[in-house]
Amino acid sequence: ETSLDIQAIRKDFPILQRQVNGQPLVYLDNAATSQTPDQVVNTIVDYYHGYNANIHRGVHTLSQEATDAYEIARQKIQKHFNIAHSYEVIFTSGTTHGINLVATGFTSFLKKGDEIVVSAMEHHSNIVPWQMLCERTGAVLKVIPMNQEGELVMDAYHDLLSDKTKLVFCNHVSNALGTVNPIEEIIEAAHKVGAAVLIDGAQAAAHIKADLQALDVDFYTVSAHKMCGPTGVGMLYGKQEWLKKLPPYQGGGEMIAEVTFEKTTYADLPHKFEAGTPNICGGIAFGAALDYMNNIGFDAIAHYEDGLMQYATEQLLSIEGLRIYGTAKNKTSVISFNIEGIHPYDIGTILDKLGIAVRTGHHCAQPIMDFYKIPGTVRASFSFYNTKEEVDVLVAGVKRAKNMLV
Ligand code: PMP
Repeated sequence: ETSLDIQAIRKDFPILQRQVNGQPLVYLDNAATSQTPDQVVNTIVDYYHGYNANIHRGVHTLSQEATDAYEIARQKIQKHFNIAHSYEVIFTSGTTHGINLVATGFTSFLKKGDEIVVSAMEHHSNIVPWQMLCERTGAVLKVIPMNQEGELVMDAYHDLLSDKTKLVFCNHVSNALGTVNPIEEIIEAAHKVGAAVLIDGAQAAAHIKADLQALDVDFYTVSAHKMCGPTGVGMLYGKQEWLKKLPPYQGGGEMIAEVTFEKTTYADLPHKFEAGTPNICGGIAFGAALDYMNNIGFDAIAHYEDGLMQYATEQLLSIEGLRIYGTAKNKTSVISFNIEGIHPYDIGTILDKLGIAVRTGHHCAQPIMDFYKIPGTVRASFSFYNTKEEVDVLVAGVKRAKNMLV
């Protein structure tokens, strides 16, 4: 069925052995954040035990070791996403930071009446910064609608595009529904009208290895904590033409070439966008997380997780009154559901008593919930370290919750 030795993989994640409320933990909140393997934790320990120092400044040995490790991590990210130049990899604190950097930078490029297109299934972090950009510039936000299955209506997208469109934003995978969006088509069509495209890869990156040169995307953002890395670090990819044009996001140390009180000139890429002391250890650990996942292999991961999701979908649908939101043909690793007449929060609370971690609520995607006219959903999201047995525990737990609540 799978080439992966899941039991061996699980040993890399000590947290999976713990008990919650007297029950073995069943961690199914991977879309919010993934767990961290020993290989990544050890990288963090090695850094603080061995070569903790500030980078790009010191002539001393520790500083050079830290700088080298940080730049090697940047190259690992470059290679992983097939990026042409390492200076097109900007270290950020995460997806939210990357999106805000681009949205702020575009302020001087837009004028009243320009149009920005976003999809109906965005995370709030990919809605609010663009609304703020519209307020600053007088640009107008247009929304690609979705259908009941949770797929974007692509005809409507093509109709929205015109020479007024300057930017298009869409997530690669929806964190609330699991839909894999047709980003190739989205990017190609946007480029035909001269618009730039930012793809939010936060939810995709743990499941799909994106080839950013093949996609020809202008910007792509990810967060390390969703792909076995630590919190507080991520990357923004930008095509060098754009990164050269965009103004710096924050001023400070590291990002300058020369400073006088009359005028400051900015450092070359990527440093222009990396003001201040970065999350050095986090960046190095991000590189270790990519190594870990690539060692397992993204094809094997995707194949295994798809099997798990199919199995969970069938089992959950056998429960009467259970509805799954997001039934797109192309989806990955997320099942969002409700049971008729029961509030999702109540199901989540009972599942927690049984040691099962799921997310309940609007998943930072309120417009999707409004679309389905629901307050929220229960979301189970899978990783390669989850098992069929854990799916069985989830399904039994949901049945038990239903019996207690109806
Ligand atoms: N976009 C999507 C699709 C997400 O799933 C998330 C995280 N839930 C974000 C953006 C924001 O990521 P972060 O909080 O790491 O900045």
